[in-house]
Amino acid sequence: MTAPTNPFEIARETLRLLAARRIAPTPDNYLTLYHEIAGSKPAAMAFPETQLRSLAAALPKSSPEQLRLARQLDESVKAGNWEEYKDRLVEFINGLAETQKLTWATLIAELLKQWEAKHPGLTLARKRESLEHVLNSSGANPETLFTRLQNLLRGWGKGGASEESGGEEYPQDNTEAAEIPSKPPASTSELQPELRELLAFTLETAITSQLLESPQLTSDAKALAAEIRKAASVRQMQDFLARLKRFAFKLELLAEDQAELRLSLLGLLRLLVENISELVLDDHWLHGQIEVVREIIGTPLSQRALDDAERRLKEVLFKQAQLKASLFEAREAIKQMLAGFVDHLADFAEATSDYHDKIESCADKISAAKDISELQDVLGEVMRETRTIQINAQRSRDELQQTRQQVLESEARIKELERELESTSELVRHDQLTGALNRRGLEEIFTKEAARATRHETELCVALLDIDNFKKLNDAMGHAAGDEALIHLARVCRDTLRPQDTVARYGGEEFIILLPDTPLADASAALTRLQRELTKKFFLHGNDKVLITFSAGVTQMRSDDSRESVIKRADEAMYNAKQSGKNRVFATR
Ligand code: GH3
Ligand code: MG
Ligand code: MG
Repeated sequence: MTAPTNPFEIARETLRLLAARRIAPTPDNYLTLYHEIAGSKPAAMAFPETQLRSLAAALPKSSPEQLRLARQLDESVKAGNWEEYKDRLVEFINGLAETQKLTWATLIAELLKQWEAKHPGLTLARKRESLEHVLNSSGANPETLFTRLQNLLRGWGKGGASEESGGEEYPQDNTEAAEIPSKPPASTSELQPELRELLAFTLETAITSQLLESPQLTSDAKALAAEIRKAASVRQMQDFLARLKRFAFKLELLAEDQAELRLSLLGLLRLLVENISELVLDDHWLHGQIEVVREIIGTPLSQRALDDAERRLKEVLFKQAQLKASLFEAREAIKQMLAGFVDHLADFAEATSDYHDKIESCADKISAAKDISELQDVLGEVMRETRTIQINAQRSRDELQQTRQQVLESEARIKELERELESTSELVRHDQLTGALNRRGLEEIFTKEAARATRHETELCVALLDIDNFKKLNDAMGHAAGDEALIHLARVCRDTLRPQDTVARYGGEEFIILLPDTPLADASAALTRLQRELTKKFFLHGNDKVLITFSAGVTQMRSDDSRESVIKRADEAMYNAKQSGKNRVFATR
């Protein structure tokens, strides 16, 4: 019998065969048999695109690997290629099975290893930044965090070239990350106790032993050690990681601080070594100051303490500059000695003419003498007067010699003082009149404070103040009174502001104040407080109480500021304060 070709015949034959083969007459069975008889393909049988697509969509896509496979599955659906779809699905499932072996513990071990390893072109700060980015961007999803950490480590392994945390750019080549786990376990029950113990031990011993000076960090390290010992779930691990990250950051800050401390300490030592021989050690005042510096260095080192010590030492140097005043005094003393001697000479001369008078009257008495006994009395008088004048002459000669000796000594001392002053003046960072920092001192402190503010992300404010109507004060009371007023203002500034604030004389009657770790509003309030203090602590000129006022501009240092730009802003604010009537404080961002 030839195969039927007519559709009616095929249909009939199909029904016959269904009955003959005792196959259930379902539409599917009918269709299969129909094509068998017709020798055709089941063209009408649609590829289950919708179902396969929804299956692919339901698969996990938390790793770039899985994403890539899901994309390929989609392509197979689009191409209607079941074989390919099937192969890829198998590959997907195998991949899942393979990664089950890998754990968080391995990932953390690798993270620690890579953290400490050196990678060309990758600083610790850069690592920290990318780790922070991954931690922040992975939210509460442990799988995403896991994958991104893996990517990060792979990126570090490649010298930081690919540390993107996004999944799409995931590198296909897995060879370098062979030992890096690629799927987090459901819990850290597999986290080997040994590894946790090792971490805890490291934190407790190796790290805390380095942190003797920082009780806070020591207790942080101990708390972290306790935490890692107890960690039993992925969430706890995540918490631990986040805390460990913050701890590492603090450690790095501490290291930077210690480096800065060492530098300051060296600077201070240098200052001491270079100047100690120049200091006038028999001066009681200087002994006290040096003792203070020694005490400060003796306490646990901190940046502020060192800055304080440096300031005190510079004060010593400044005081030394004040020896200029004692030079003046020494000269005055010489003048007085000479004046005293001249007085003595006059006395001597007077005594001499007195002597002449007396001798004359004695001569008269001698010519009028009638007997030898009378003459003896007169001669006795002559002898006495002569002896007195001799003693006077002798005394005057001694005094002359003594004065000459004192003048010589004073001159030598003056020369010595001048030499000392010359050799130390270069180091003086203070304004000679007011004792505030001078411009050079300000530059130094500004650089330090600006760097510290950037590193610790704290606010640094800069104020510029200018005395109001100072010219009038000078004109009315004289330049010397003006000088006294400047000294008074600087003293009130120092007494009113905090020890960590810096006061510098910026120009004639202009001062700059640096206020570290101070928000703008507080800095402005500090300047207002200073204004109030000046109304209480009058400047006394003789018996006159003189009120000094100033106008000030205050601003906060920005990340793009230089010293010049920030001072310029403060200066503009100060100018505005003057323009709006003086005796005001203007703040500007
Ligand atoms: P304003 O309120 O606008 O600031 O007026 P002012 O008079 O304070 O300002 P001006 O700039 O006109 O004058 C400042 C004066 O300060 C002029 C100068 O003689 C005086 N001066 C600058 N340095 C010193 C100093 O070291 N000692 C004394 N006694 N006066 C000084
Ligand atoms: Mg001025
Ligand atoms: Mg002025």
